[in-house]
Amino acid sequence: MLPVVALVGRPNVGKSTLFNRLTRTRDALVADFPGLTRDRKYGTAKYEGLQFIVVDTGGISGDEQGIDVVMAEQSLLAIIEADVVLFLVDARTGMTAADQGIAEHLRKQEKPVYVVANKVDGIDGDSESADFFALGLGDVNQIAAAHGRGVTQLLQSALAPIAEQF
Ligand code: GDP
Ligand code: MG
Repeated sequence: MLPVVALVGRPNVGKSTLFNRLTRTRDALVADFPGLTRDRKYGTAKYEGLQFIVVDTGGISGDEQGIDVVMAEQSLLAIIEADVVLFLVDARTGMTAADQGIAEHLRKQEKPVYVVANKVDGIDGDSESADFFALGLGDVNQIAAAHGRGVTQLLQSALAPIAEQF
C-alpha cells in the first residue's frame, strides 16, 4: 500500500489545483489500491522516489453550520483513509468560519495534519498566512499551487516523517 495524502478544505481554496499539480495521471487506477473507495478523486504522485496517492475532495460547503455538516461525508471519509492530511486555506481571503469548523474536526483526529495557506503569489505571504496559526494545527505552510511555489517544501514536510513506514 502507498501513503495516502488527502487534500481537504472549503471550496475554492485550490485543492483541485494542487491535486492537478501533484498528480501525473488525472485519475489513478483505484482498482490497483484495495481499500480505497471509488467515490473520491484519486491520483498518483511522486516525491523523491516515494510514490503516494493524492485524494481530492470537494465536499465541504462553506455554507453549512456545525461540525457534522461543515465536514461533508466524503471529506470525512477521505480523512479517515489518509495517512497525512493537507488542510488548505486561502491566504487571500483569510480565515473563515468554515476553516475554523474544519480545524475543530481535524484537531480531534490522531493524524498528521499540515495547514497549507494557498495563493501566496503576489501577496505578503508571511503576513497573510500568520492568522492561520490560530487554527491550532501547527505551522502554516505557504504555497501557490497554481505556480508550484512552496509545493516541494510542503511535500518534504508532510512526507518525510512518514516515508519510512512505506
Ligand atoms: P477547490 O475548490 O479547492 O478545488 O479550488 P480550485 O483548485 O478549483 O481553485 C479555485 C480557484 O482558485 C481557481 O480559480 C484557481 O485558479 C484559483 N487558484 C488556485 N491556486 C491558486 C494560486 O496558487 N494562486 C492564485 N492566485 N489562484 C489560485
Ligand atoms: Mg475542487
